[in-house]
Amino acid sequence: MTLTDPTPRTTPLAQDGAAARPHEGLTYEVRTFGCQMNVHDSERISGLLESTGYAPVAEDAQADLVVFNTCAVRENADNRLYGNLGNLRAVKDAHPGMQIAVGGCLAQKDQAAIQRRAPWVDVVFGTHNIGSLPVLLERSRHNAEAEIEILESLEVFPSTLPTKRDSTHSGWVSISVGCNNTCTFCIVPSLRGKERDRRPGEILAEVQALVDAGAVEVTLLGQNVNTYGVEFGDRGAFAKLLRACGEIEGLERVRFTSPHPAAFTDDVIDAMAETPNVMPQLHMPLQSGSDKVLKDMRRSYRSAKFLRILEKVRERIPHAAITTDIIVGFPGETEEDFAETMRVVEASRFSSAFTFQYSIRPGTPAGKMDHQVPKAVVQERFERLVALQDRISAEEMATLVGTRQELLVTADSGSKAAERGRLSGRAPDNRLVHFSVPAGAETPRPGDFVTVTVTEAHPFFAVADPTAQDYVLRRSRAGDAWDRAQAESCGAPAPGMAGGSGATSLGMPTLRPRS
Ligand code: SF4
Repeated sequence: MTLTDPTPRTTPLAQDGAAARPHEGLTYEVRTFGCQMNVHDSERISGLLESTGYAPVAEDAQADLVVFNTCAVRENADNRLYGNLGNLRAVKDAHPGMQIAVGGCLAQKDQAAIQRRAPWVDVVFGTHNIGSLPVLLERSRHNAEAEIEILESLEVFPSTLPTKRDSTHSGWVSISVGCNNTCTFCIVPSLRGKERDRRPGEILAEVQALVDAGAVEVTLLGQNVNTYGVEFGDRGAFAKLLRACGEIEGLERVRFTSPHPAAFTDDVIDAMAETPNVMPQLHMPLQSGSDKVLKDMRRSYRSAKFLRILEKVRERIPHAAITTDIIVGFPGETEEDFAETMRVVEASRFSSAFTFQYSIRPGTPAGKMDHQVPKAVVQERFERLVALQDRISAEEMATLVGTRQELLVTADSGSKAAERGRLSGRAPDNRLVHFSVPAGAETPRPGDFVTVTVTEAHPFFAVADPTAQDYVLRRSRAGDAWDRAQAESCGAPAPGMAGGSGATSLGMPTLRPRS
């Protein structure tokens, strides 16, 4: 169903930019599930809602609008959604006028089924039509009936929508959406569609706008960033984009996710090595070390090529921290196949890995494959892989001890670090470092930089307890932006966003991430 007849109370977007704010006085909450792409979409949903007058709901208050931005990739995603919707039914009955909207991948996949199973949902919108949400809400309210709008392809690139950023110092910028690959475990291509590339000028304008607003770090986001440019016929477009980001004054850290080993070319490695603000970090999804399993996954590289890429990256960028995604127990995986994964993991020296146990994703080709591996076997292999990667992560982290690292200070420290009076930051290679501020030294704000010597290593983070001489604070525009944001919100953290800055998991196929 598509929209043909907007109601009189339309959104600002629908009225040539006129400043209509039909939802003034109403509050909203966005609950986000899934990958970084969804977290970024939720920033857009929030920005769009606020542009029509909605305000983030206060903590412990009931929002007038609850939006679920769903994920179809994770196991039990639908049970989780319907459980949440079930809980909200009574809340909605007790709050006349409250609305519930469901968007994201599960909405794209299940469409009208959502309203059959949860008829108290007011709006269902797909991954391609976030921009219609305010109009759909308004129509639903006006007509007192549910609205569904699911487009099969993208009409407006989502980054042209207003965005409410989750962080003042770091921002996500979409360079493409969708994916032209057909990995057999992945539901992304059928839900997010074919790859659509954004024009470089638009991307760079958004990066510049973020920097102007105080950001010092940008992560370029796409399901498969290496193929960026395929739509407008420039195979070197991604490397050029990295180099162009290097020209933006005030932009101190550039990252990207996710590349695909099959399309990873030397010009990208050169651009990474030769552009000072592109950080020495790479997330390169392996998925399996077995060539047979890679073939069954329909991933067109082989383990030798994968290892060659890592070798080249380390030749040019010796301190690069490389992370990965690995699936254990893909259909047909034998003990020999798994041994290949262990071999490639040992050789790859990943600084960390997102490890997943395969289980059937309805709607994917792998879900219909014979020779599904028994759960107990998957579990046992998974534990061996985790033990191996934990050892390697700890060894790789230990190499940081004694080194000087400039950390970009983050807003969240984690409960244990906070208990010990430590703050947290990210090293250039994106590893997490908890640090203490020496007595008498100035405390940094989120977005500032501190330089410290790492004193202790753990598998998943490092610690620095510097002396006053060892501690260097560099205040930044991002720290100033944090001050401004705090002043605007009277020091209250803005509610309304779930998900926060979680681990990057674009196109992540499976479930049960290790805790
Ligand atoms: S796993 Fe990544 S590359 Fe493969 S189909 Fe999914 S999004 Fe595309």
